[in-house]
Amino acid sequence: ATPTSIMVGTGRAADMGILFRQGDALQGLSRVDVVAFDKTGTLTLGKPVLTDLEPAAGYSREQVLALAAAVQQHSEHPIAQAIVAAAQQDGLSLPEVSGFEAVTGAGVQAQTQGQCLRIGSAAFMEQHGIALPPTMLARLQDWGQTGRTPVFMALDQTAVAAIAVADPIKESAARAIEALHRQGVRSVMITGDNRHTAQAVARQLGIDDVHPETLPDGKVAVLQALHERGLKTAFVGDGINDAPALATADIGIAIGTGTDVAIESAAVVLMSDDLHGVPDAIALSRATLRNIH
Ligand code: ADP
Ligand code: MG
Repeated sequence: ATPTSIMVGTGRAADMGILFRQGDALQGLSRVDVVAFDKTGTLTLGKPVLTDLEPAAGYSREQVLALAAAVQQHSEHPIAQAIVAAAQQDGLSLPEVSGFEAVTGAGVQAQTQGQCLRIGSAAFMEQHGIALPPTMLARLQDWGQTGRTPVFMALDQTAVAAIAVADPIKESAARAIEALHRQGVRSVMITGDNRHTAQAVARQLGIDDVHPETLPDGKVAVLQALHERGLKTAFVGDGINDAPALATADIGIAIGTGTDVAIESAAVVLMSDDLHGVPDAIALSRATLRNIH
């Protein structure tokens, strides 16, 4: 494409709410084989709500929710916000906690009343030698199958609750994936969430491949593996954690409503959170290269 056609294409993209931060991205996009998506905040709204809370015998809902919110008020994770909002809605007063720590892609912990309180994935519990009773383990599957994300809570070595949050899928997501498939582009989802939940969301959207339980470094590794197979990749994400993947993909596409770090790591920015911007950008890129030589 000529500099003029690139300028025209970039201008037309801007009218559609698609910002090209790097000039060569407009050409690069036309040859993309695979688009990989982050799940939370990208395919979903990123605003989960608490849907289920099952305390272990001897604990009440109020007790568990107040403790959970006391720790989670120090976390910025969407799961944390859902738990804190539920406690506020119930008008609970929160106990004191100290020594808060967040473990990326796993969970959070803090000290309260001389005990260590942890909330996080089943894998996080396992890492700390906390056994989940069969009733809680079953929730991984039955909550996960409906796209809910289960997390577990423990006091020292004892599991005290299973909690589920649900994060609605964006209205634009299914249509965007469908449009990509019509363009001959494969779709992939990469997420830190568990296998059951990830697969349920992917199934609802018709996504080709899922990589669940993947930390930020793992997202990079998935993209590198696709690259080594000779495939040209785009990655779509919104979070701080997505910055390495956005920088690694051949074309990084950030959701404009996401974090500044994500936007700064991306070649392309969608000004709205409408995912149809992804196939639109590819179509525009192909048209730009086709029409003007
Ligand atoms: P995603 O890629 O979907 O944004 P993350 O990598 O942020 O997921 O988190 C992966 C998993 O780690 C979550 O599904 C959850 O099980 C656990 N986790 C992370 N942070 C928290 C938190 N603050 N509270 C509870 N669980 C958490
Ligand atoms: Mg995200």
